[in-house]
Amino acid sequence: MFQLSFTKIEKFLRCPQEYAWYIDKSVYNKYHQDTPPLIFGSIMHAVLNDYYKNLEKSERTKEKMIALFKQKYKANKAKHDAVFKDRKTVTGYAQTAGREFTNFLESPLSEIVPYVATEENIKTDLGGVELWAKIDRFDTSAKGLKIIDYKTGKYIEDEPDPLQLDLYALAAFIKFPEIPIHQKSYYYLYDNRFVEVACSSGEFKKTREKVLGIAENIQKTKEFKPKKNPKCIWCDFRTICPLWQ
Ligand code: SF4
Repeated sequence: MFQLSFTKIEKFLRCPQEYAWYIDKSVYNKYHQDTPPLIFGSIMHAVLNDYYKNLEKSERTKEKMIALFKQKYKANKAKHDAVFKDRKTVTGYAQTAGREFTNFLESPLSEIVPYVATEENIKTDLGGVELWAKIDRFDTSAKGLKIIDYKTGKYIEDEPDPLQLDLYALAAFIKFPEIPIHQKSYYYLYDNRFVEVACSSGEFKKTREKVLGIAENIQKTKEFKPKKNPKCIWCDFRTICPLWQ
């Protein structure tokens, strides 16, 4: 079945050529480079996941979170050292991790045990298209389900794309049809800030149609052309992109 995720959709809408190289594993494996923010984000997500899965309530402290961070860094030390390059950079990110753990522990999230906290993809059949959604956590309240996506970078005005949470809400709506979805939020750990995306009636139908429309567009595209955009500077494929030669 044709598979889509937020990352694939975002790439296709931003630059069809980037999407085509991203899904071609032979090109991706050759040109993809991990960066400090990418590694940092993935370690932080793993720590926040372990916080509930592997720590008893009495162990849920900042010190334990820092210990988990170190453990995850050391588990792949050679690779991580190569990406972070020098001690000063590692120290800077470790300080950021400390600040983000403090904020997390002061936030209401630390006290609520999520209904679901997973790093695995939820795969949903939308009718010929399989949507993959990697949702950080669902919480429940008397009003229904809250969907939360952790962001480990600094908050930038207008940066979060509401589509990411809209896709996660659609996946949650299909997986847990018995629970109404009443809130969708990004949580910026560095700024201790929630950014909410409004829920609206009929949104699941609209989101499903949007995803199916994008899938159709991708499948009928004959030539995936490059399109310059502000994120070109972060693109893995800039060295082979015709627009940057
Ligand atoms: S460098 Fe820019 S234009 Fe070229 S493939 Fe990447 S995102 Fe597209």
